[in-house]
Amino acid sequence: MDDLLTWLRAEIRKDIAGAEKLLEEGSERRWYDRYHCVYPRDLIARGQTELALLDEHAIESTGFSRYCRVCSEYSTKPGESSELEPAPAPCRTVRLLVSGYQNRSGFKPSWLD
Ligand SMILES: [Zn+2]
Repeated sequence: MDDLLTWLRAEIRKDIAGAEKLLEEGSERRWYDRYHCVYPRDLIARGQTELALLDEHAIESTGFSRYCRVCSEYSTKPGESSELEPAPAPCRTVRLLVSGYQNRSGFKPSWLD
């Protein structure tokens, strides 16, 4: 599943680079038709937020299992110490993020399983 993260980070960085190019050309917004336009600064901010979310929900490994530390939870049973119940990685947050890119070339439907 590492290719999911590599691919997604590359797609996000491409979007940011495209938006930065629009800004360099002096476009604060670009109209695609009468009703739709993009705002490069919003695209850059959104992309940076998505990259930060991917960093936050990074895949960690214990050798045998891969998990997301942020989405893992501690369970406490009466009379026992609490135990970490690892959330499988990539976690739901990462899957939701990548689902927003499912219409792009290179997307693998299995990433949503
Ligand atoms: Zn997570």
